[in-house]
Amino acid sequence: MNASPADQRRLLEVAELDTRIRQVDAVRRNPPQATRVQELIARRQELAQELATRLGVRDDLRADLARIESDVAVVDARRARDADRLASTSNMKEAQGLESELGSLARRKGDLEDAQLELMERLEMADAAVATQEALIAETNAEGATLSAEAKRVVAESSAAFDAATRDRAAVAGSIAADLLALYERTAVRSSGAALLRRGTCEGCRMVLAGTDLQALRQAPEDAVVTCPECGCILVRTEESGL
Ligand SMILES: [Zn+2]
Repeated sequence: MNASPADQRRLLEVAELDTRIRQVDAVRRNPPQATRVQELIARRQELAQELATRLGVRDDLRADLARIESDVAVVDARRARDADRLASTSNMKEAQGLESELGSLARRKGDLEDAQLELMERLEMADAAVATQEALIAETNAEGATLSAEAKRVVAESSAAFDAATRDRAAVAGSIAADLLALYERTAVRSSGAALLRRGTCEGCRMVLAGTDLQALRQAPEDAVVTCPECGCILVRTEESGL
């Protein structure tokens, strides 16, 4: 195939734009923050499960404490009633019975207060455990929100870059002879499509061409479309080619 050297050079622009389009397309589909965001979502689920467990422990302790407080109230009422009756009775036997009951109520109250203190300590620890877990979740949410915002920005930027490069590509491709562009498209499926030959090296595959290959390229007419013997891409010759 023959094509003007100017058209051949424009293929390099198309190849560059195609590389750019592939790069920004990959970024907009999968921004670099995406993996960490997924990790954070999984982590938040684990943290929320643990928080539910800790909240359950705290609720149980609160219920136990409420029960003890109501037991204390019952004992207090009973003691007040017994004390009133003791003050007003003249019956010795009844007075003895009331005194004995007041003694056991005092012991019962002491036991309840000990249990109450212990529960309050455990509740304090349970509150702290809940607060720790809530702080971890808040941290995870904050990191997730920051990364999601960054990812959104990166996706918007690469989408804009994708659109711009696609427009540029259409403009450049539209100025190239159709048969040359079609050859490029076919070649680009399995190589970089078109590359500059610079100082005897194909920039598509980075291979230094053999002397005999360079000799053949040297003899090819300027408008001949030549390909790299190593990777098969269209080799564009310029004053930099070292021929
Ligand atoms: Zn090559």
